[in-house]
Amino acid sequence: MNAPDPNDGTTTELRDPDHDPSASLALEPQHVRRLTGLLLATSGETKPAISPINGQPLGDIPQSTEADVAEAFKRARKAQATWARTTLEERAEIFLRLHDIVLERQDEIMDLICWESGKARKHAFDEPLHIALTARYYARTAQQHLGTTRVAGVVPGLTRVEVNRIPKGVVGIISPWNYPFTMALCDGLPAVMAGNAVVAKPDAQTMLSALIGLEIMEQAGFPKDLFQMVAGPGRVIGTEIINRADYICFTGSTATGKLIAKQCAERLIGCSLELGGKNPILVLRDADLDRAAEGAVRAAFSNAGQLCVSMERMYVADQVYDKFVQKFVDRVNAMSLGASTDWGVDMGSLISQDQLDTVVAHVEDARSKGVRILTGGKARPDLSPYFYEPTVLEGTTPDVTCFGEETFGPVISIYRFSDEDDAVERANDGDYGLNASIYSQDGQRAREIARRIKCGTVNINEAFGATFASIDSPMGGMRESGMGRRQGAEGILRYTEPQAVGTQRLLRFAPMFGMSDQAYAKFMTANVKLMTKLGRK
Ligand code: NAD
Repeated sequence: MNAPDPNDGTTTELRDPDHDPSASLALEPQHVRRLTGLLLATSGETKPAISPINGQPLGDIPQSTEADVAEAFKRARKAQATWARTTLEERAEIFLRLHDIVLERQDEIMDLICWESGKARKHAFDEPLHIALTARYYARTAQQHLGTTRVAGVVPGLTRVEVNRIPKGVVGIISPWNYPFTMALCDGLPAVMAGNAVVAKPDAQTMLSALIGLEIMEQAGFPKDLFQMVAGPGRVIGTEIINRADYICFTGSTATGKLIAKQCAERLIGCSLELGGKNPILVLRDADLDRAAEGAVRAAFSNAGQLCVSMERMYVADQVYDKFVQKFVDRVNAMSLGASTDWGVDMGSLISQDQLDTVVAHVEDARSKGVRILTGGKARPDLSPYFYEPTVLEGTTPDVTCFGEETFGPVISIYRFSDEDDAVERANDGDYGLNASIYSQDGQRAREIARRIKCGTVNINEAFGATFASIDSPMGGMRESGMGRRQGAEGILRYTEPQAVGTQRLLRFAPMFGMSDQAYAKFMTANVKLMTKLGRK
C-alpha cells in the first residue's frame, strides 16, 4: 500500500497491491452467524450484505416478519417493567462497562464498519468513540437529568411540587446506514438510561455493524430483551414498529421523516426526527486559511460526504477567496483515496450503486449547466465499484440540482461573498437547518453571526466535531432538518413523561372557616397581589 503524501499535490491511490476485488472477505461465516443470531428474525428469508469495498457478499442477513416485531415488543415490555425498577446507579455501572468494552473492541468494530459501509478507517473510528462518549456521558449525568426535581408550589411553604421523569415504555429506533454502529445505538442508550426498552430497526445495508453493538451490550450486562433488533424493509418493519412503540426516534431522509411524523401523529405518540441537511461553511476574511482549508476537507469529505452534518456549500470572503480556494483544492488533490480497512485512507467509497447514481447525476447536471469542476468529477471503478472522487464545484447556479438539494456525497460548491450579511442570508437559504460552520479568528464575532444562522448546530473553527462530540450539547435540526434533539438533556428527556406530584398542606383551594365563595375569591386575590408585590422587591 502506498503511503499518502499530503504535500505532493496529487491524489494518492491507496490500493493494496495484493488486493483482488473478487477475493472473499475477511468475515468468517461463523462471525456473521454469531451476530445475525442476535436478531429476532423467523421469516426464513435472508438478504445478502454486500461490501462496497469489492461488491462481494459479506453474509446473509435473516429477515424479520411482522409477527417478529410483535414478539419483540412483547418481550421488550416485560424486560422494561423490571428495568424501570433498577436504580440509576445500577444502570450507570452497565453503561460504563459498555464504554470500556467498546473501546477495547474498537478494531473489530471498525473492521466491520469499513467492510459494510466502505468508509475510511479514520471515519469508522468516530463511531466507537461516539458511543463510548455517549455511554459515559449518560452514566455520569443520569441523576442530573432524571432525578426528581422540586419546582415552585403556588403557595410557598404549603404547596410542595415535585417532577418525576417517567419512562415512556418501549422506544422504537429507526436508523440509517451512514454511521451504522453509532446511529443504531446512540439514541437507544439514553432511552434505556431513562428506564425504557428499545426495539431498533437499523438500515438493511449495514445490519452487521449494528448487531456488533447488540453483542457488546449483552457483554456489558444489559438485561435480555431490553434492547432488541429486527431486520427488514423500512416500509414494512419500520411501520410495524411505529404501530407499537410509545415513542419513535428516526434518523434518515426528510422525505421518510415526514411520513413517519404523520404515522406518529395518527397514534398521538411523540417522535424525534434527525433528518437531512445542506450545510454551509462560512470562511470569513479573518479566517486562518490553512485551518479553514483543512477543516473544509473534513467537513465535505468525511465518509465521502455521506454524513448528515457534512458540508455541501461553502461561502468564502472576497478578500481571501483566491488564496483559500487554492489551498483547499491543493488539499483535496493530496487526499489518499482507497477502499480498504487500513489506516491511511482519507476518503473511502460510497455505500451503494444508488448513492453513486445520485452523485453522478448531480455532478453531470452541474457540468451540463456550465459549473466549473475545480477538482474531481469522476467515478473511480478502478478503486472500488461505487467510488466517486472528492469533487469541488465553482459557479453553481440556482438552476443546478445540487445548489439546494442534498447530494449526500463528496461534492461541495464554493461561492464568493463580499458582504457578511449577504453570506448569512445565503447560508440560511433553502429549507434545511442542520449544521453550519464558521471560520474566523474573532471567536466573539463568529458567535454573534452563529446566532443569526438557522441551524441546530454551528461549529466555529471546526466542521462538526465541536458540537457532535460534545455529548452535553443538543444536536439536531431546525426547519426541514428535523424535530427534537439527540444528546444532552433534550436527548434523554424526550424519552420521559414529566409527571408533576403536588402535595398540599393546611390551606385548601376552596373556601375555609365558613367563608363565602366571594370572600374566598377576595382573600386569594389579595394574596396573589401581595405575593407579586413581594416578588418585585
Ligand atoms: P431513509 O430515510 O431512506 O432511511 C432511513 C431509515 O428509515 C432506514 O432504516 C430505512 O429502512 C427506514 N425507512 C425507510 N422508509 C421507511 C418508512 N416508510 N417507514 C419506516 N422506516 C422507513 O434515509 P437514507 O437515505 O437511508 O439515509 C440518508 C439520509 O439520512 C440523508 O438525508 C441524511 O442527511 C439523513 N441522516 C440524518 C442524520 C441526522 O442526524 N440528522 C444522520 C444520518 C443521516
